[in-house]
Amino acid sequence: MKYISTRSKIKPITSAEAILQGLAKDGGLFVPEKIPKVTLEEIDSLKDKTYEQLSAWLLGKYLTDYTEDELGECAELAYNWFDVTARVPVAVLIQDPKNPVAPVGNMELWHGPTSAFKDIALQMLPHLMRMALKKVGETKTILILVATSGDTGKAALAGFADVPQTKIMVFYPDGGVSQIQKLQMVTQGGSNVNVTAVRGNFDDAQTGVKKIFGDKKIRAELDKLGVKLSSANSINWGRLVPQIAYYFAGYRELIKTNQIKLGDKIIISVPTGNFGNILAAYYALRMGLPIKKLICASNMNNVLTEFFATGVYNRNREFFKTITPSMDILISSNLERLLYHESGGDFKQVSRYMTELNTKGKYQIDKTLKARLDKIFHAEYVTEDETKLFIKRVYASFKYLLDTHSAVSIAALSKYRGRTKDLTPVLSASTASPYKFTSAVLEALEKPIDGVDDLAQLKLLNRATNFKMPKNLAVLSAAQILHNDVCDKDEMAQRVLDFAAK
Ligand SMILES: *Cc1c(COP(=O)(O)O)cnc(C)c1O
Repeated sequence: MKYISTRSKIKPITSAEAILQGLAKDGGLFVPEKIPKVTLEEIDSLKDKTYEQLSAWLLGKYLTDYTEDELGECAELAYNWFDVTARVPVAVLIQDPKNPVAPVGNMELWHGPTSAFKDIALQMLPHLMRMALKKVGETKTILILVATSGDTGKAALAGFADVPQTKIMVFYPDGGVSQIQKLQMVTQGGSNVNVTAVRGNFDDAQTGVKKIFGDKKIRAELDKLGVKLSSANSINWGRLVPQIAYYFAGYRELIKTNQIKLGDKIIISVPTGNFGNILAAYYALRMGLPIKKLICASNMNNVLTEFFATGVYNRNREFFKTITPSMDILISSNLERLLYHESGGDFKQVSRYMTELNTKGKYQIDKTLKARLDKIFHAEYVTEDETKLFIKRVYASFKYLLDTHSAVSIAALSKYRGRTKDLTPVLSASTASPYKFTSAVLEALEKPIDGVDDLAQLKLLNRATNFKMPKNLAVLSAAQILHNDVCDKDEMAQRVLDFAAK
């Protein structure tokens, strides 16, 4: 299997090369030349596999330049320390007891080391990169640079810590992340890890990192030190491909718990930001997993809801800061891959849309493409109040606690069911532990939090609900602080050079 760009005709490259390059030179994203197909028999044969084996099986369909042993090793190292043996368990919530044919499986994607779904990709990517370096004969050390507003930084740190031939450096805005997010980062162990606070806001940190990536002089100096810069960006193919696996695992769980039979179609609902998670579900559909509809769930930043309804993508709009910060996005980068596949590989058309997005901030897809997307997707957005309402309702009905993002998915699903009366069984992507967004969850449950700090809120939520708290958060207040560095934004480049030389 070779990889090509969404924006022009390039010479096809291997998956190892695509993972190391991240972004194609023409600015496009890497996509597989063909989407592999699986049969129902093959899906049936997954039933006795561990999650690690299932993941390696899925990766083998796309990363054909890796050996079976290599992919097995990647999956073991990525997932063997998740805190439940199922790795991705599914909690079945029967929405209406009088109507047991309409279950909702809440697929818990947050049992990794940072309690959010990005772990599933970011625990895998470093190992895929490390092996890719060997395959292409690269001897330099890869330095991953990240500017973070909170969650991605910790997930990347946990993934790259102590991975050979890599280093990771994370910049976060001093005073600009939550107490818990900061503690998660500054207590990160590992001999190849650096965490530095930047005096300024997130934009300052991000601009600083972008400048370093674009600075030829710094790159030359790093080159002399035997170091090459890279990013762990969510558009890297190596981050997307591990996510396809859990949709097969979720389908298998619905069979195991007798909610569906092999071959039955399901609906998948996904709380969407950068369009990575739902795109992975789309690949599963195109591979042959029986899926009737994909529900694209958004918050008040509803640029995607409008896009699927009208065919117009328009980023010129008000930006809202919501209680689902990981979905506060106006440019959903991975949508480009969908447009490529559903236009039948028409890179000229995709390239035109992306140019228009850049210059005018909007584009309109043609009727044929729109009609194709209509068959697959249904989009809904939900308000802040609706999100909280569903946290409260689901807790009241099932003693089950949703985080804010997962609640957006369930609320959007409920709107879909109301509109269509479609009671097909559902798999809903649950993307974070409720303990990651404690204050909003406590508010949804109508628990007063005035004057209660983040760490105390964890305990409060635990006492109020008895819902299991992830161990990585429970031990946080006692963990040793390992990183105290603070710098000005114009010192960032020097800090990178210092760390590279270490
Ligand atoms: C990143 C993230 C999302 C959005 O996923 P995309 O792949 O960007 O669409 C949703 N929920 C949580 C908790 C996230 O961290």
